[in-house]
Amino acid sequence: MPATPLAAAAIAQLEAEGVDTVIGTVVNPAGLTQAKTVPIRRTNTFAKPGLGASPSWHAFAIDQSGIAFTDDVGVVGDQRLRIDLSALRIVGEGLAWAPASFFYQDGTPVPACSRGTLRRVETALTEAGIDAVIGHELEFLLVAPDGSRLPSIMWAQYGLAGVLEHEAFVRDVISTATTAGVTIEQFHPEYGVNQFEISLAPLPPLAAADQLVLTKIIISRAARRHGMRVSLSPAPFADGVGSGAHQHFSLTTPEERLFSDDAGGMTTVGEAAVAGVLSGLHQAQGILCGSIVSGLRMLPGNWAGAYVCWGTENREAAVRFIRGGTGSQYGGNIEVKVIDPSANPYLASAAILGLALEGIRRRAVLPPETTIDPAKLSDADRANAGTTLLPEAQADVIAALDDSALMREILGDAVVDLVVSVRRMEHDRYADLSPEQLADKFRMAWSL
Ligand code: GLU
Ligand code: MG
Repeated sequence: MPATPLAAAAIAQLEAEGVDTVIGTVVNPAGLTQAKTVPIRRTNTFAKPGLGASPSWHAFAIDQSGIAFTDDVGVVGDQRLRIDLSALRIVGEGLAWAPASFFYQDGTPVPACSRGTLRRVETALTEAGIDAVIGHELEFLLVAPDGSRLPSIMWAQYGLAGVLEHEAFVRDVISTATTAGVTIEQFHPEYGVNQFEISLAPLPPLAAADQLVLTKIIISRAARRHGMRVSLSPAPFADGVGSGAHQHFSLTTPEERLFSDDAGGMTTVGEAAVAGVLSGLHQAQGILCGSIVSGLRMLPGNWAGAYVCWGTENREAAVRFIRGGTGSQYGGNIEVKVIDPSANPYLASAAILGLALEGIRRRAVLPPETTIDPAKLSDADRANAGTTLLPEAQADVIAALDDSALMREILGDAVVDLVVSVRRMEHDRYADLSPEQLADKFRMAWSL
């Protein structure tokens, strides 16, 4: 997309509003959020030609030092990080932010760029006559600056006590989000102690992932202002509750809303989309929840959707159908529960939407829904229904992704090879650690 430079008047307007610094971010295959900053007057240069970045940015691992080089990504080469000016937002206290994408020096998109990858999938859907929107949920844990647990004397599951204990933080997040144009639909204490959840308004896929990144920045800055930090680990403490980053999606064609027919159910095409997601879930797991700590969360009973099945309002199913109707402001939608905050959200959306499109194209048939907790079914009943458990073992997750011709077709070899490479480095270096050691070591790995 050609970058239209910001007019001098627009830059002057930002300066008048107190902005002195622009942050541009990308998210890499390991789920790390990376950034460069410029003085406000360099904003247009950051958009075009962009700022230099080594290809190794794609290969940085979650342990603060590892670089998981691949055949394509080594020490030679230079790419350009370009911010998308159309998505620039003011985030307060002198800062503005915009999402960035990777380009080669000649201006062609870098295939390994996660934002570019989601853009490609969004375009493929548009060309197929389908509009998608995604609503992100983000669960996170408030912790002390050194990553240790905060007191939880005043806490109940979903309790008002948590809101009041952290009222200054909660209100700071809401007011900053409002200023930044982020639409928070709801913000509340979750089940785990000092765990909160934010639901964001649905937007087209790229804009929705951008909005999620901005939200992570907003909560992380606010937490700092109140003497805390945010853990974005899927399993912050081995003996505690996991954090998910569920994505809700809905699809619309000129004729129909695929998850809201006249009776509030799915259309035949909508069923094919969900069937595509379900049948590709194991192959996509490495993209959706593939980090070394993801397996600590991916267990039955955690509401993480460890069982590969679907069900209406079923919180133990990997894919939950939310029916359209008076209680559902946006009509019916599909929630993919398995995604966690160690995932790159651009790639996670690209994987899901790519699988949905593939399901539609081959008219995939949706298996019957699971109407109870799948753990309560007998092994025989689960086998009959084709309901399997997603593996916890990272080696299995990585192999399924590496071997998946389908994920390679949807995301491209560059992306799949890099995700496999960073996750394999985690496995090679840290698979011997106990769950407690893993949770401790990586509690702040994705923190901003
Ligand atoms: N914390 C759960 C997870 O790890 C989700 C709880 C919920 O359903 O909101 O995904
Ligand atoms: Mg939740």
